[in-house]
Amino acid sequence: MEINISNLSEGTHNYTLSEKAEKLGLSEIFFGDVKAEVSLESKRRQILLHIVAEGKANFQCDRCLKNITKNIAATFYSVYEWEGERVNSEESNDNFYLLPLGTNIINISSDVNEYLALAVPYKILCKEECAGLCPQCGKDLNVEQCTCEKEIDFRWNKLREIVSNQ
Ligand SMILES: [Zn+2]
Ligand SMILES: [Zn+2]
Repeated sequence: MEINISNLSEGTHNYTLSEKAEKLGLSEIFFGDVKAEVSLESKRRQILLHIVAEGKANFQCDRCLKNITKNIAATFYSVYEWEGERVNSEESNDNFYLLPLGTNIINISSDVNEYLALAVPYKILCKEECAGLCPQCGKDLNVEQCTCEKEIDFRWNKLREIVSNQ
């Protein structure tokens, strides 16, 4: 995902970039094209990028194991400053790069890769109220109810046994 910055006039420039997920080196759950909407602001000393990246990824529902596809999106800023023009104002920025004079290309692939990887949720559900699988018979409780006793009932039965044996 490259942006040509040679002969860039001062002001705002917009780009839509696209790259195959596997070419970006994203994990195997990602597939298809990853898109990045880039708003570039060229100043005398700096180039500021606002990037909205989006890709598609395959998941399994945490509860019912159904295969689902989700869009994963990440928004972030990157600051590029021309070498020898340091203004020291943006040093705390996470994505701060020094550009050697004469640089023609900015490559945002590794940033897009990193931010999309961070945006992958740890847990994912096919729907908020997914009922999951029955832990005993394995039926998908979103589709049908089973006749298994619930785990909580099972525990109560144990308790009743203990009480009745005393
Ligand atoms: Zn589910
Ligand atoms: Zn069951």
